[in-house]
Amino acid sequence: MTVMPRPSILSVEPYVGGESKIPGVNRIVKLSSNEGAFGPPPAAIAAIEAMARDAHRYPDGGAKALREAIGARFGLDPARIVVGNGSDELISLLILAYGGEGTELVMSAHGFMMYDITGRWAGCRIIKVPERNLTADIDGMLAAVGPRTRLVFLANPNNPTGSILPQSEVERLRAGLRDDILLVLDSAYAEYVTRPDYDAGAKLVDASGTTIGGRAVGTTVMTRTFSKIFGLGGMRLGWCYAPAPVVDVLSRVRGPFNVNAAAMAAGIAALGETGWMQCAIEHNTLWRGRVVAALEAAGIKVWPSEGNFVLADFGTPAKAKAADDALKARGLIVRAMGGYGLPQCLRITIGTAEECTMVTEALTAFMHG
Ligand SMILES: *Cc1c(COP(=O)(O)O)cnc(C)c1O
Repeated sequence: MTVMPRPSILSVEPYVGGESKIPGVNRIVKLSSNEGAFGPPPAAIAAIEAMARDAHRYPDGGAKALREAIGARFGLDPARIVVGNGSDELISLLILAYGGEGTELVMSAHGFMMYDITGRWAGCRIIKVPERNLTADIDGMLAAVGPRTRLVFLANPNNPTGSILPQSEVERLRAGLRDDILLVLDSAYAEYVTRPDYDAGAKLVDASGTTIGGRAVGTTVMTRTFSKIFGLGGMRLGWCYAPAPVVDVLSRVRGPFNVNAAAMAAGIAALGETGWMQCAIEHNTLWRGRVVAALEAAGIKVWPSEGNFVLADFGTPAKAKAADDALKARGLIVRAMGGYGLPQCLRITIGTAEECTMVTEALTAFMHG
């Protein structure tokens, strides 16, 4: 006899993060995890350093100052914000609280991996809905919903495809779901989106529990992160905006000190660096366009992206692997996409100008080689 976890746990494939080392290569350029191109904002670095002296103190378990700073920045009620050890933690808590054995979780086929990983951990049956043109198919997702469905996840923009749905489609999804189904809008890349009609999710969160045209609107939660534009992936800091009943549930299940003091201080400082952030957004828009243009000129198909990354499509898994090898030989690490069911693709994070140029030159040489 031996100890055994619940059977569903053994169906979980451990998460494999972006690589960060290449044996024998000294200078590496890591463009595999969609981390901000410029490192942490300078004020966040100073805040983390200053925090070291108080490391013996427990953090504020209520995260009051951070929630107020997030609320002020995004125009949201701090009482409806919950912070987490990365948005991954909040995604996990939502799945564990609202899903579990006997329930189903619906996501799009190439949606973010953590919904699948944590969903299995919780014991949910995971329903992956085929996409159209690597974009979530709302009709397909609605058709996949069954009596046991309790959770629907949509990353908008999505990682790794970069695709985005218009607000009308997101609203159509919510309107088509029963009100005992929680819709989670994962807006990890919201800050990069430049479309005027984009809403990161607050509108549907606010509509939760109201009636539109005599029909009750179900519950929606929006998750956000400090790991991408804010350059704080190593601090593990995310947040969600949710209706009061969901905030109540999360405050029961989260650890009392789930976010550490340095992460909170860094987050508050990062929110204050609005000029720095604006530069990061402008850099991303400019260089994402340049990377797409250069790759297309080299004969590579690139899927349209609203995030800080692009998905390069080499047509076949073998060609994608050869391209990956060619990049590695130059110390460039991007993300292979086999785990996402897209083995013909590589996902490339938009780095600094120099890093972007290195990647596009390497891939141009590869295509001509
Ligand atoms: C990076 C990412 C996250 C996770 O962010 P953390 O806050 O670092 O846990 C969540 N969702 C998507 C779609 C992401 O790409």
